[in-house]
Amino acid sequence: MAKVHNWQMGREMRYPYEAAYPERQFAFVFNINRCIACQSCTMACKSTWTFSKGQEQMWWANVETKPYGGYPMFWDMKILELLERANPGGQRWSGRLSGDPRAPFGRFDGRTIFEASLMLTPDSARVLGYLPADEEWNSPNIYEDNPVGQRGTPMEYHKTGVELPEHKTWFFYLARICNHCTYPACLAACPRRAIYKRPEDGIVLIDQKECRGYRKCVEACPYKKTMYRGNTRVSEKCVACYPRIEGKDPESGGKPLETRCMAACIGQIRLQGLVKMNRDGTWAADRQNPIYYLVHVAKVALPLYPQFGTEPNGYYIPPRWVPRPYLRQMFGPGVDQAIERYENPDRELLAVLQLFRRSKLIIYGYRVVEGPKAYEAELRGRRFTLYNDTVIAYGKDGEELFRTSVEEPVHVRPPRHANSI
Ligand code: SF4
Ligand code: SF4
Repeated sequence: MAKVHNWQMGREMRYPYEAAYPERQFAFVFNINRCIACQSCTMACKSTWTFSKGQEQMWWANVETKPYGGYPMFWDMKILELLERANPGGQRWSGRLSGDPRAPFGRFDGRTIFEASLMLTPDSARVLGYLPADEEWNSPNIYEDNPVGQRGTPMEYHKTGVELPEHKTWFFYLARICNHCTYPACLAACPRRAIYKRPEDGIVLIDQKECRGYRKCVEACPYKKTMYRGNTRVSEKCVACYPRIEGKDPESGGKPLETRCMAACIGQIRLQGLVKMNRDGTWAADRQNPIYYLVHVAKVALPLYPQFGTEPNGYYIPPRWVPRPYLRQMFGPGVDQAIERYENPDRELLAVLQLFRRSKLIIYGYRVVEGPKAYEAELRGRRFTLYNDTVIAYGKDGEELFRTSVEEPVHVRPPRHANSI
């Protein structure tokens, strides 16, 4: 196995292939605090890519209720258990948060799915994983809205009610697509070399002509985002709506468009872009790219299960009300800092958060123009001042895409039209 640097884990790790990085990387930020589980994203994907015979149980994009829900059922618990068995008690982080782009979260000392495979799986297996049973794919929305209750008893509310910083009765919605990982487990496991990562945007695709349906990718992907199609006998996965990214969607006018699931998001939780990569696999400093800003400057958006080792390119602003140990397991050691910053946003963060879902065009840069003070308030014991700044979004060639303000304009319906019907 080759050695590659995984910046999310702050160390070198073993991977079956030599490192090779795209020029830009498809990446996204989901703000969990805003998701309402309307499933508009899920249906936008389904109606675009997986509406055909043989794809009935296939949901490339899904939204599950944590902690009990999962598609396929219990996918994360199962892989976490396998990792724990390979490295009992050793799945830990050391070091501290820092500004080092090669190790911003410290160092993950446990074994990744690539390293643990050497211990638990047959010699031929390159990745620690498991193949879900058919019935585990049956119910994509199982346990919807089921909270953790009294001392972990499902369906029973905690008697003391709820209060920040952590609720005692809690659940949250986790929206998921393929993470188009920097070190894809699906690609690593494919004996046919049918899976590839595009050099121009890092999108991970399965060559349908090369695939023979061995399902090694389904077994290996820790996020379970490759799926087997019984009637064609090949595997399929999220294609990141690549014609839209390329600006070839008929409605794009030649400009790069966000994926269908992003563009459809009612809760305005999603922002997707393309980040510049350095030759060593870290992100090139691109201060005014909103994804770069949220991940590396504001540090409010964190990778999903970075300990798996695939270096996923999906980032999440963690939910404020959920017990921290659970969130630290899911998003790593940056959780407390991310929540603190999200709860007490500065002017720039507040402005950048307004970019979510104002347009379906991919944003390559932004600029904040300071505006007047709008109001002051006491928030959780701190003085908070809101300024009505304007944020301007720019496209691929530096052209202005749109501008929007922090304060939404208020429109009062005149009495003559009090009822719109
Ligand atoms: S999330 Fe899974 S399917 Fe997607 S690139 Fe990563 S390993 Fe492959
Ligand atoms: S469309 Fe947005 S708000 Fe609705 S479920 Fe999907 S991610 Fe959540």
